[in-house]
Amino acid sequence: MPNVDLMIFGGGIAGLWTMHEASRRGYRCLLLEAFALGSGQTVASQGIIHGGLKYTLQGMMTGSARRIREMPSIWRKSLAGEQLPDLSQTEIRSNNCYLWRTESLSSRLGMFGAKMGLQVVPKNLTPDEVPDILAGCPGSIGRMDEQVISPYSLIQNMADAFPEQIFRYDPTNLKFLHDKNGTLIAVQIHAPDGTPITIQTAAVLLTAGGGNETLLQLANPAATVQQKSIMQKRPLHMALVRGTLPPFNGHCVDGAKTRVTITSDIDCQGRTVWQIGGQVAETGVSMNRRELIEYAARELSASVPGIELNSLEWNSYTVDRAEGATKSGHRPETPQILQDGNLLTAWPTKLALAPQLAEEICERLSEIHVAPTPLDDSWKSELKRLPRPQVALPPWETAVDWVRLDEQFSQREAA
Ligand SMILES: Cc1cc2nc3c(=O)[nH]c(=O)nc-3n(C[C@H](O)[C@H](O)[C@H](O)COP(=O)(O)OP(=O)(O)OC[C@H]3O[C@@H](n4cnc5c(N)ncnc54)[C@H](O)[C@@H]3O)c2cc1C
Repeated sequence: MPNVDLMIFGGGIAGLWTMHEASRRGYRCLLLEAFALGSGQTVASQGIIHGGLKYTLQGMMTGSARRIREMPSIWRKSLAGEQLPDLSQTEIRSNNCYLWRTESLSSRLGMFGAKMGLQVVPKNLTPDEVPDILAGCPGSIGRMDEQVISPYSLIQNMADAFPEQIFRYDPTNLKFLHDKNGTLIAVQIHAPDGTPITIQTAAVLLTAGGGNETLLQLANPAATVQQKSIMQKRPLHMALVRGTLPPFNGHCVDGAKTRVTITSDIDCQGRTVWQIGGQVAETGVSMNRRELIEYAARELSASVPGIELNSLEWNSYTVDRAEGATKSGHRPETPQILQDGNLLTAWPTKLALAPQLAEEICERLSEIHVAPTPLDDSWKSELKRLPRPQVALPPWETAVDWVRLDEQFSQREAA
């Protein structure tokens, strides 16, 4: 019977970064994915390795800003292949993000807050350095050393390191097995031909994003109602636009918010695609697709004056951010870990915080006396019958029915 130290459910950034960190410390890890790797949030995310900008916009050094500002240097070293995990095969979309603002007073204050306490401090650009599409924006325009990565290539890079330890399984045919004291000791899954496979494990980690709640209920049916209300989902309605666009990554600050956050990539046909998030995606949750697209276009033309909207194609996608529950329902300030004996449930809160989450999980393993066992590959043979999961495709590759803004709309905007 296969026997591992840590069984991880869910191959988004949280599960994969933890797998790398735990393996580096000598733990025998196995990761089981129900669908495609990164298919919940990670591949749909904007891939910004935040240095705390968003959390200093109120002019305060919040808990989130303090924790997250350590992250960019960890990522930078991994992306350069200078430390484990080796992320040198991950595509870096940009090594910096632009930062600019609208005319309002609150925007000026927001910019002031953004410059306080950040390790990634924006550098004011000279007029020659300002990209054409931002010419005409009020105030100084900054550039921050905030890296933007391709989440798809990140997941691919991280999964490639474990060709024999990451498998896809059928989540509808899963059992958690306990000993007579109620301690979790094994998991039963099924090979594609229906044969049951039982895997012993010293600890289980749930990093299934929005799937954590269901898994936790299955793993611990005796949990109280209170324990079961552990997760919150905060929806986003993101806009996508493709066509003749320059590669561009940045935030337009408006008060304590980012009015739009733009990241860009190239699709499989060589077209530039912009993902538009920030306040547009928060406010857009109550809108239908058409309303969101029109709203995003208005926001884009107001905040990026040099952009030509005609001929661009638009789309949108909805996605839930899954996090540990907070009393206020707002974003938690730090990664969240729940512990019930040798069962850990975790959410990183942000992609950028995955290194911190992984470190804290490994510390918890030591605290509950789960020790690395000597390396031995014999446990892998029985698992070879399980398939390897794909990496989820980015949202612009799966979106259908792209639309152009009609002439009437463009004229209305021009007026
Ligand atoms: C639109 C958007 C933009 C964002 N932009 C940024 C950003 O720029 N920077 C940043 O730092 N953060 C960003 N975030 C937040 C960040 O994406 C998330 O915090 C992070 O990706 C969560 O990772 P995760 O591994 O916990 O979950 P997920 O990425 O959701 O991964 C969960 C995995 O578990 C699998 N799974 C589900 N159910 C099961 C099951 N029963 N068994 C096994 N596997 C299962 C899923 O298929 C998936 O592979 C963004 C989020 C969104 C939604």
